[in-house]
Parts: sequence; structure tokens; C-alpha cells
Amino acid sequence: MNPVFNQPINIQFPKDISMTIKREDLIHPFVSGNKFRKLKYNLLQAKAENKTTLLTFGGAFSNHIAAVAYAGKEQGFKTIGIIRGDELPNKINENPTLIFAQENGMQFEFISREEYRLKSEKSFLEKLKAKFGDFYLIPEGGTNELAVKGCEEILTDEDSVFDYICCAVGTGGTISGLINSALPNQKILGFPALKGNFLNDEIRIFAKKDNWILISDYHFGGYGKINLELIEFINAFFEENKVPLDPIYTGKMVFGVIDLIRKNYFPANSKILLIHSGGLQGIEGMNIKLKEKKLPILNNND
Ligand SMILES: *Cc1c(COP(=O)(O)O)cnc(C)c1O
Repeated sequence: MNPVFNQPINIQFPKDISMTIKREDLIHPFVSGNKFRKLKYNLLQAKAENKTTLLTFGGAFSNHIAAVAYAGKEQGFKTIGIIRGDELPNKINENPTLIFAQENGMQFEFISREEYRLKSEKSFLEKLKAKFGDFYLIPEGGTNELAVKGCEEILTDEDSVFDYICCAVGTGGTISGLINSALPNQKILGFPALKGNFLNDEIRIFAKKDNWILISDYHFGGYGKINLELIEFINAFFEENKVPLDPIYTGKMVFGVIDLIRKNYFPANSKILLIHSGGLQGIEGMNIKLKEKKLPILNNND
């Protein structure tokens, strides 16, 4: 049985606009949302190549790191996580994501931010091969051609009724899959969770159509940045709809879509589908930071 379903959102909007959220966050208890989609064909490929080890990259609170650790263990792979931040080895026990990954067997290599920038360079990968032996490489965030193929399976026939499909954007793999499988009359709106203009080019590598646009006004100051307004929005959205959103990606995207509805961005009678790409494992780590900053915490995850 597929645990993903489309859930109507009960907010009354003008002009008969309707909003529905696809609960991809429910696809697996630990390999959340789009990370499940992105890993599916990569793990099959790793097996086809007789690899026994997966190696990937991520930040200290990365949903992707948590997903690779769990999925790797579940399918019998050794996993290695190259983690950004050489100050972290002594802080693993303060970080729920790293604790989770470690408990699921992931071996860490912590590197400086400068070294991390070399992550796609051949000479750096050769160095990692010399150190760890042969591995199947999954890029940062999991995005490659096979990941996009997996994300092309997010939309199904029942989704043909929607006019707009909205998703959060990190590396661009998920939106590329949505673009490729959407109907020509459907428009895909991507909400980057980080600053910068490189994403359009990234997406054009994988996306085969032009029915999409990035809306860059809702990153809240950059990747992982959050403010009181966003916290209160996520908590209120949970109160009203019983849908938990994560603070890094889906919270910002849903905030943006609702703001655009209020600003009359969407024509009357638009049917909007939001993709809940998961990421809820990040709430615990974010709440630790919020407490340190004496901000209210996210109370949408129980
Ligand atoms: C990783 C992630 C994204 C970004 O996906 P990309 O394919 O990298 O654009 C969006 N939402 C959540 C919850 C994620 O964990």
C-alpha cells in the first residue's frame, strides 16, 4: 500500500482557489519524502554495480545524510558521510541528525568548509577512494539523473486536475522530476530554500520542459535561516491542518504559496498542489538552536 495521499487544506481563500498537499513525508518512517524518491534508482544502480559502500556529502543537519544512513543500512550497504564542518567531531552528541546517522551505521569524515567545496572534483574523489576503498558516489543532496528519474514518480494520474504544482528547491533534483512528469498545461513553481542564482542552470541540466519558474522571495535570509514569523506560521499551520512542515524547506514553500495567494498571484479557480517533500527529522535539531536563541520552538512534530 502506498502511504502517500493528497490532503485538502482547509484555508478559505478568495476567488475559489483550492490548495491540496501531497503527503510525500509519509512515504517512509525514516527515509523522508523526496530523499526516498532520489535514492530509489541510485540504490538499484549501486547493487547492479556490485558496490557495497555508499559515500555521500552533507551538512550537519542534512535530511539527505539521515536518509542515506537509514536506507543504506536497510539495504545492506556500508555508508560513509563526508560532513561539512571540521569543528563537529566533538559535537555529534548535540546533533540529532548525526546521532541518528551514526546509530544507523554511518561512518563520518568531517572536513573543513574549504575542502567541502571540492566535493565534485575528480582529484578529491580519488583521494576519498584511496582512503575508503571503492564506493558508489551519491552527490550532495542526492541529485543526479537517477534521482530525477525517481522524482518523476511523485506525480500520478490523479494529479492531472491541478493547475499549479509547488515545491521547495535545494539542489533542484526534485523540481526537475516534477517538471518532466507534469502535463504541458501545468505550471511548476519552485521555492528555493537558499540564496543564489545558480539554481536555474542546475535545473536546466535535468528538466526537459519550460513550464516552470523559481520564486526566490521566500528563503528567509538563506539556507537554514528562520525567524519568529516563520516559526509562528509553521505552528499555526499545524494547528489548523494537522500537517507538520519542516523549517528548512516545506515551511518556507507553503508560507510563500499562501503569501502569493493573498497577493493575487494565482488566477481565480486555480487548483494548487503542494509537494510535502518531508524533512521532519530536522525539527529536533532546529529546536535545539531555537532554544539557544530563546525563540519559541516548533511544536508540530508529535
Ligand atoms: C532535500 C530536500 C528538498 C530539496 O530537494 P532538491 O531535490 O535538492 O531540490 C526539499 N524538501 C525537503 C524536505 C528536503 O529534505
